[in-house]
Amino acid sequence: MSTITNITVQTYAYDLEDFGPGGTYQRGGKLRLEKFIVSITTDDGLVGSYAPHFGASPQALAQVKDMARGLIGHDAEQRERIFERLKQSHRHYDKSGIAALDAALWDLAGKKYDAPVAKLLGGYRQRLPVYASTTPGQSSPGGLDSIGKYAEFAQTCWEQGISAFKIHGFFDGDAKKEIAIMTAVREQVGADMKLMTDPASTLGSFMDAIEVGRACDDLGFYWYEDPYRDASSSAVAHKRLRDFIKTPMLIAEHIRGFEQKADFVLAGGTDIMHIDPELDGGITGTMKLAHFCDAIGMEVQLHTAGPMHRHLMAAIPNTLFYELGLVRPDGPWNLMQPPIYADDYGDRVDCVGADGCVPVPDGPGLGVTYDWDRIAAWETGREVFC
Ligand SMILES: [Mg+2]
Repeated sequence: MSTITNITVQTYAYDLEDFGPGGTYQRGGKLRLEKFIVSITTDDGLVGSYAPHFGASPQALAQVKDMARGLIGHDAEQRERIFERLKQSHRHYDKSGIAALDAALWDLAGKKYDAPVAKLLGGYRQRLPVYASTTPGQSSPGGLDSIGKYAEFAQTCWEQGISAFKIHGFFDGDAKKEIAIMTAVREQVGADMKLMTDPASTLGSFMDAIEVGRACDDLGFYWYEDPYRDASSSAVAHKRLRDFIKTPMLIAEHIRGFEQKADFVLAGGTDIMHIDPELDGGITGTMKLAHFCDAIGMEVQLHTAGPMHRHLMAAIPNTLFYELGLVRPDGPWNLMQPPIYADDYGDRVDCVGADGCVPVPDGPGLGVTYDWDRIAAWETGREVFC
């Protein structure tokens, strides 16, 4: 038994160079971001940590702090019990705080048994095929500032061995422009690259969603994601939408928790299930839903990227691509990955191997090394629960 003695939550802030408001490219610009890292210590001297990428929201931070108080004295290896406890105690909320704590507990277990988390999960692969997931377009110069830039960038990714490319367009609700980007990219890269589009709930109407969906059919798109303004919340609406188009739909990014997502599937709301490990209960919550989907012949996609995602993907047979996002031309860094690693961990286009894959970290636990000096230098706050 490894008893939790204290949990430390550190917040840190850093500037991303050449980024402007909203994550746009802006030459010489600086975008300040604040994220956090959780470390769980047990009475036998073990420490497990996790630093959320996309999921490092103020809401998740508040929940992590609230949840941490109640975990002191618990057995760190009873992750199912802790998961149930946190799910119950925070049932009025989205429970996004569970993930960082759960991932830190898995990291701790991996260190205890000197094994990567992927191995504890029964992982069977070391190379993960990626898809490039773009930043949104922008009207100011740089980045993806034109339809042509999308086509050029898709070609660049293809030439680097990346076999799939997902468009995040201009998010202005213009279905015609969405279709123009899709058409330009397909014409540029030819028939072999897998293409996807994600209007991110910005199309103004159901009819717009049908129009773009039919373009997906015509252009041979691999999946069609969260098209219109219901924010992918209605299973019935998406069941109706699926009746009009042939391209498989990837929905449920904005629904939280494995029970609600299972309901969404059974109501006919999607063809592929979207799970966000940083929002849907960490490793414990993700594996429950992935297994459920596997049982009914459904593939899952893990939303965004991070060390936790890689270990999960190594062990989930019914998933296809690792979301390398969000990427763009003009600068390698992305908004999602905090620059806090002392090793070569990275979610950038230049981190992808010639085989179009990224590796699963093979060290104990989550297998990444944090640059603690850098995190300390950037620290904006620290709370220790004991
Ligand atoms: Mg999406």
